[in-house]
Amino acid sequence: MPDNKRITVGILVGVLLVLAVCFVLRTKQGSLWPAARIKLDSGYHEVMGTFGRAVAVAMDKETAQKCTRAALEQIEMVDDLMSDYKQDSQISRLNRDAFKQPVKVDKDTFEVLQKSIEFSALTGGAFDVTVGPLVDVWRCAAEANSAPTEAELQKARAAVGYEKLILDANDLTVRFSVEAMRLDLGAIAKGYAIDKAVAAMQTAGAIGGMVDIGGDIRCFGAPPPGKDRWLIGVQDPEKTGDLLGAAEPLLVLKLTNAAIATSGDYRRFALIQGKKYSHIIDVGTGGAGSELSSVTIISSSATDADALATAVSVMGARKGLALIEKLPNTEAILIPSRRRKFFKTSGAEKHIEY
Ligand code: AMP
Ligand code: MG
Repeated sequence: MPDNKRITVGILVGVLLVLAVCFVLRTKQGSLWPAARIKLDSGYHEVMGTFGRAVAVAMDKETAQKCTRAALEQIEMVDDLMSDYKQDSQISRLNRDAFKQPVKVDKDTFEVLQKSIEFSALTGGAFDVTVGPLVDVWRCAAEANSAPTEAELQKARAAVGYEKLILDANDLTVRFSVEAMRLDLGAIAKGYAIDKAVAAMQTAGAIGGMVDIGGDIRCFGAPPPGKDRWLIGVQDPEKTGDLLGAAEPLLVLKLTNAAIATSGDYRRFALIQGKKYSHIIDVGTGGAGSELSSVTIISSSATDADALATAVSVMGARKGLALIEKLPNTEAILIPSRRRKFFKTSGAEKHIEY
């Protein structure tokens, strides 16, 4: 055989060999190319009085499905324990019985209460989950369309105060030292549920993901295919959109293994005789209102971001920014009620995409 024919045959045999190997690999592994990551979005579910969803990034569909399922299960678990609307939740049980006797709770409930007391101490009482009696006063006032009297607020305040909540870490029991005390975890439970959901997704094999409950969000690991980062919109308080936050965002944040939580009066408030009252209460005065229309906190933990966003709403811009500046890996973006400019902590800029 002439030399050039021999070369052609050699090339042909080589190509055939490569194709054969490829065919074997394809049938064995289902794909020739390095496996590509996939994204699965659970879609919005009604949870914790709002809407929640989980997005998982994984190497295959089954793992991604396992991850979003595990995330939603954790969110429901936290809601079942900590809702004050559900009569059989542990928080409702505490609200009924914890003055009469110490009540044993699950590790998760205990942990949230412990963290709540830590945040109360850190924020000089601005954050306080014993706010329940004041929440009730304001709820009744909204129903009656009549602002509460000073006497009503004073009476409720007598049953409020985190130092009246007594935890025993040895036997995981909780006790109230005043009878009318009521817990309300509305300012921290969503963040805690997000952290539990993220942990569950990581255990189930997610290489990346995002959990969103009512606009409080935590992202971790690999972004969705085709993206090089997780981008999260912060809602414009003046353009509220619908409950799923469809309005155009005011800011877009890039998050790497971080959480954001936003508190404000722009979505949840009471209208009493035409005047808008925030759902966030200053337990020091009993008053419902803030100089800030929106507070966004960025932190590595969603629990911390959630608690701090509520606390800074109460503390106001000056004290709130001073506190957040002191905390490691924590930033704040504040929008005053009469908006002319943002207030930001010194490290917030690095999270802002545009
Ligand atoms: P968030 O939207 O996270 O700021 O939580 C607001 C909810 O937390 C309110 O609807 C109340 O149920 C509760 N809350 C109100 N004021 C406070 C406060 N000062 N500290 C802790 N929780 C509060
Ligand atoms: Mg909060």
